Amino acid sequence: MMKYGEIIDHIYQQLLLEKNYGHVAAYIPELATVDSEKFGVCLIDRDNQRHAVGDWQEQFSIQSIIKVVTLSLAYQKLDAQLWQRVGVEPSGTPFNNLSRLEHDFGIPRNPFSNAGAIVVCDVLMELFSDPREVVISMLRTLAADENIHYTQAIAASEKSEGYRNMALAYFMKSMGNIKHDVDDVLDLYFDVCSIGVNCEQLARIFMFLAKHGRSADDLHSYLSRGQAKRINAIMLTCGFYDEAGDFAFRVGLPGKSGVGGGIVAVMPGEFSLAVWSPRLNEKGNSYRGLRFLEHFTDATQQTIF
Ligand code: GLU
Repeated sequence: MMKYGEIIDHIYQQLLLEKNYGHVAAYIPELATVDSEKFGVCLIDRDNQRHAVGDWQEQFSIQSIIKVVTLSLAYQKLDAQLWQRVGVEPSGTPFNNLSRLEHDFGIPRNPFSNAGAIVVCDVLMELFSDPREVVISMLRTLAADENIHYTQAIAASEKSEGYRNMALAYFMKSMGNIKHDVDDVLDLYFDVCSIGVNCEQLARIFMFLAKHGRSADDLHSYLSRGQAKRINAIMLTCGFYDEAGDFAFRVGLPGKSGVGGGIVAVMPGEFSLAVWSPRLNEKGNSYRGLRFLEHFTDATQQTIF
């Protein structure tokens, strides 16, 4: 049995000594108010045991990590039909890139770019009468924890400066790939990005991708095995925007980052591991999160490669 707890503690202590690392995202004003020194880690293993250190109980903004959950909900219902609206190819461009969309006739390259996730929100509005409730209850069920909520202040803050996402959404609307009112779709997108989670909740939630579609407690099934395989593949190839190649190279696990400083990575069949440190590198991914995961997979040899 792997001694995850000891390894996690050791790497955590080592990284605390590294002082010069990244900056907190400031383009969403409310995110810039977070204490930049926060650092938490939580791993849930296949026996549903928790191994955690640091600020793992403190909630932070889930941001783009939610894109995996919203995608899973749309995919669960539409299966392969979903790929008519959004592709599955890595983009090699930043998360909020505009230029490719024109070239691709309003079909986003993948569901983890902002454009792709906005289309997925549009799809959720078609599929569910109350998509916000469906998203939050999936998170609460997977985490086996009711204490997960939308954060109005973050959503409002992002909306107040969300010109880039508005441009993406309006462009896709002009190309026929957004069916609902653009403001309503964006409101849903900003709301789901604003949800607060802690490292333990995040690691528990993502166990459904380590367990081929089933929840950590084994009581619920959200995806078929084949669907879980494909979501993991998209995380591996697209989960870190134009740093996806580097993440695969250094960490070797499917994963997803958010500008709130969270990263979650999954070892299918074994564990889900969430790290939170709000300071980001120049590609918008948590600096310490990435370092932690690189050290962790080197130390444990738990990688898909
Ligand atoms: N809500 C953020 C945005 O749309 C998500 C970006 C991210 O987490 O990478 O800009």
